[in-house]
Amino acid sequence: MQPFSGLSLLLAGLTGQRDWPPQWRSPEPKPAYDALIIGGGGHGLGTAFYLASEHQLRNIAVLEKGWIGGGNTGRNTTIIRSNYLFPESAALYDHALQLWASLAQVLNYNVMFSARGVLMLAHTVHDTQVFRRHVHANRAAGVDNEWLSPEEARAFCPLLKISDIRYPVLGAALQRRGGTARHDAVAWGYARAADALGVDIIENCAVTGILRDAGGAVAGVETTRGTIHAPRVGVAAAGHTSVIMKMAGVDVPLESYPLQALVSEPVKPIFPCVVMSNTIHAYISQSDKGELVIGAGTDAYTSYTQRGGLHVTSHALEAICELFPMFRRLRMLRCWGGIVDVTPDRSPIIARTPVPGLYLNCGWGTGGFKATPGAAHVFAWTIAHDEPHPLNAAFTLERFRDGALIDEAAAAAVAH
Ligand SMILES: Cc1cc2nc3c(=O)[nH]c(=O)nc-3n(C[C@H](O)[C@H](O)[C@H](O)COP(=O)(O)OP(=O)(O)OC[C@H]3O[C@@H](n4cnc5c(N)ncnc54)[C@H](O)[C@@H]3O)c2cc1C
Repeated sequence: MQPFSGLSLLLAGLTGQRDWPPQWRSPEPKPAYDALIIGGGGHGLGTAFYLASEHQLRNIAVLEKGWIGGGNTGRNTTIIRSNYLFPESAALYDHALQLWASLAQVLNYNVMFSARGVLMLAHTVHDTQVFRRHVHANRAAGVDNEWLSPEEARAFCPLLKISDIRYPVLGAALQRRGGTARHDAVAWGYARAADALGVDIIENCAVTGILRDAGGAVAGVETTRGTIHAPRVGVAAAGHTSVIMKMAGVDVPLESYPLQALVSEPVKPIFPCVVMSNTIHAYISQSDKGELVIGAGTDAYTSYTQRGGLHVTSHALEAICELFPMFRRLRMLRCWGGIVDVTPDRSPIIARTPVPGLYLNCGWGTGGFKATPGAAHVFAWTIAHDEPHPLNAAFTLERFRDGALIDEAAAAAVAH
């Protein structure tokens, strides 16, 4: 792998940046590997990277039905924070936040992590009580979060309108370490670093079946590019998880919904942070290209269409225009959807499954981008050791049978 550095960029500039080699290989699939990862999003590629870099499992492949990062990883609004209510969630997401801080150095790839602060607006007495409770719970768990008055919130985000609107701002929770990162770069950075350690990244390779041996353990997969054997298979397929798990005869408590986002025409730097409003359901930040990145809600109906209803995006824009009236004059450039995998308690599953050798990382719903490094790190551990890392021990499949839920759904109602 040709390392990136100031000098290498300068030298490559002498030839117009034209001579960079491909950043990862395009190998043919081998007949057998020590482990397979299904899904070439950030979670799958990250898992392969940590398996190779920390657990010395290098004869592994990532199987992606389309192109890497073409799923939710490349479709999300990139909000990163760790101020979830329950200790299990805050610990897992904060593990990720700590890894984000040095990810560019670890991968030698600029993932453009920007800790610009995430402001979560309270519009009702209920919001105020819930967010204050979050602030206290987070601080008790060693996770930064602070409560701001409406005026302090406006000082942090000067374009914010706090009064004379339908839902006035009564205060806000601020996590200063939260922010955004460049989604494509996360997929590409993990792919490049994993490839350099010998991982085969195989695109245009859809998994169509899961092979089991006589004892019921996983034995490999059927794909559109042939049969591939492996004693360990990790599933990180987001919205299509239940489809894949069905191939192994396992029902998972997931529903798949379209979730949409949209961007405005690019403008000069104007928006210094990330703002989320759960109550009126909209969230916004500004990309380094200048586009305002706006997230909407999920559709009311399950679907695999990767597009959603117009009324859902219109509703999000109405909320944004209410909070930031000057954005009424902007034109929207494009919108898209992704398929998110939602669990009943809105917390993920990172666990072993009833099929020996088959592991599951799913249920991230509307909020798994922020978890990418942390989830991939503990999922790799789980696959390598055949037991959960302490940070994902509570995120089992069995909690939906046993009732030990981590109910972020009741705590927040939104998880971006
Ligand atoms: C519009 C939108 C906004 C969002 N905003 C945020 C946000 O602001 N912050 C946040 O933290 N999260 C957000 N999310 C959620 C976040 O994007 C996801 O939770 C996260 O990216 C999931 O990563 P992943 O690697 O698990 O999934 P993906 O990136 O979807 O990767 C899964 C891969 O599996 C592949 N696959 C599926 N089936 C097969 C098969 N049969 N064979 C082989 N490959 C297969 C898919 O092609 C896909 O590439 C948002 C999601 C959307 C859609």
